[in-house]
Amino acid sequence: MGDCIFCKIISGQIKSQILHQDDTAIAFKDINPQAPTHVLIVPRKHIPCLAASGDGDELLLGHLQHVARDLARTLGVEAAFRLVTNNGRGAGQTVDHLHYHMLGGRRMTWPPG
Ligand code: AMP
Ligand code: ZN
Repeated sequence: MGDCIFCKIISGQIKSQILHQDDTAIAFKDINPQAPTHVLIVPRKHIPCLAASGDGDELLLGHLQHVARDLARTLGVEAAFRLVTNNGRGAGQTVDHLHYHMLGGRRMTWPPG
């Protein structure tokens, strides 16, 4: 947790382009955007990945989706966006602090790579 880049963004040690903050969540622009809109929605609590979340995190996880919902509206991608979490190296996770990618502003394909 000491070396966690997202914990450092949350504490303000590392600068980021923050789009939303509240008591339990923060959202900021991805530094390497994969779509015109690419936002990361992150709990303040250091949970390594979705698989490591606890039963007591249910409200927090729901809240993250509502942050995504509200940001999609604010950012004008409400009609078409993708919300995704990469869980584990094999799924492409590179930062071990739970986060949801919200991608929008371009045509999305399926299946994802
Ligand atoms: P993942 O690969 O699913 O773990 O996603 C990690 C994401 O964090 C990647 O899309 C990175 O571009 C992004 N990222 C890494 N460092 C930063 C940073 N300092 N500020 C904003 N986004 C970052
Ligand atoms: Zn962290």
